[in-house]
Amino acid sequence: MLHNAHTQQFIDFCKQFATKYIRPNVLAWDKAGAFPKWLYEELGKAGFLGMQIPEEYGGTALDYHTYTQAIIEISKVCGSVGLFIAAHNSLVSRHIVQFGSDMQKAKYLPQLASGEYLGAWALTEPSAGSDAVSLQCNAVFDGNSWVLNGSKIFITQGASAQVVVVLAKTGNEKNNITAFLVEKGTKGFSAGKPLDKLGMKACETVQLFFDNCIVPDSNRVGNAGEGFRQAMQILDGGRISITALSLGIAKGAYQIALQYAKQREQFGKKIIDFQATGFKLSQTATELYAAELMLKDACAKKDAGLSTTKESAMCKFFASELAVKTANDAVQILGGYGYTTDYLIEKYYRDAKLCTIGEGTSEIQQLIILKEIWK
Ligand SMILES: Cc1cc2nc3c(=O)[nH]c(=O)nc-3n(C[C@H](O)[C@H](O)[C@H](O)COP(=O)(O)OP(=O)(O)OC[C@H]3O[C@@H](n4cnc5c(N)ncnc54)[C@H](O)[C@@H]3O)c2cc1C
Repeated sequence: MLHNAHTQQFIDFCKQFATKYIRPNVLAWDKAGAFPKWLYEELGKAGFLGMQIPEEYGGTALDYHTYTQAIIEISKVCGSVGLFIAAHNSLVSRHIVQFGSDMQKAKYLPQLASGEYLGAWALTEPSAGSDAVSLQCNAVFDGNSWVLNGSKIFITQGASAQVVVVLAKTGNEKNNITAFLVEKGTKGFSAGKPLDKLGMKACETVQLFFDNCIVPDSNRVGNAGEGFRQAMQILDGGRISITALSLGIAKGAYQIALQYAKQREQFGKKIIDFQATGFKLSQTATELYAAELMLKDACAKKDAGLSTTKESAMCKFFASELAVKTANDAVQILGGYGYTTDYLIEKYYRDAKLCTIGEGTSEIQQLIILKEIWK
């Protein structure tokens, strides 16, 4: 079981889990475009699904540094599992922990921690992506309950989740957005088929539909109109977990490439001894070190209760672009073998790209950083 412990023992536990349960199945899950049910149970038992949940609700309440180490170790082996864990913990559980009522916490957090419930977090819409404030999905109060109409797109685990945090417009003013907890099976709530994607294939991504979907007022999260502010705070934490996801993918790709370059010989030499190859690896090693330090600093600030809007955007921007570059270099270092599925490196290449898009594109991170440094 996972616990706060900044020791090699903790990292070893995560490594062992990934080696035993994930590594042998990575390609099969990617081809199937889904995870098996037993994976959620094992992740829950090991504590990976309650890392942001207080102990009184069955979680382990890991500090950010420890939490992100777990995401890094899992994502080194499989980005899809890393993405699922990051979204489940940082977006869904964290939203309920930070803004939910005592009743909502007692009702949902223990199941989310054990893996009995999967969670999803739904902000993005077909016509409101980067411009998240212009949501069309709306909720109208009828005196007793809220009536939701509209749709969401690209929602991680949206069809499998038992509970979805849904952000909906609740007034005409631009920021008048409210968060609701919508349970699977609620009348008027449905999910589309999993979207076929470039990478992160085993981690489900779907469209959600709300057609006069009635949600009790007790499932409103916080006050009406506070949802946008809540979402932005949640994304500050979420971007730290996407940094860890990016770092895990980058490290995994780098390790495969390094190993290969030390063994593969051409022209009578190890290919690492050709500077064109060796310098790619030495530059990546340096950039990984820089990304790790950035992540460590953002985690320390988050754990100290400070605002991390700037740091979260900076480390997500840096690490996600690094993941794409590292995976690209790794495919190149493996040559033709890198282009096949034999070494799995093509999967790192496909998975990495999501990191520069999800939870705000690289361009949006740059806008946030610019806004912060303008202050
Ligand atoms: C696999 C996957 C999982 C996801 N999971 C979730 C989830 O669980 N929950 C959820 O709510 N969302 C999720 N998303 C959605 C994701 O957060 C959005 O895709 C992302 O925020 C971008 O929105 P968009 O796709 O509408 O692109 P757009 O906003 O249409 O952007 C298109 C392009 O225009 C650029 N652009 C837009 N505005 C500006 C600007 N002002 N300045 C400069 N460039 C700009 C963007 O950077 C991008 O390059 C997921 C997406 C994917 C692919």
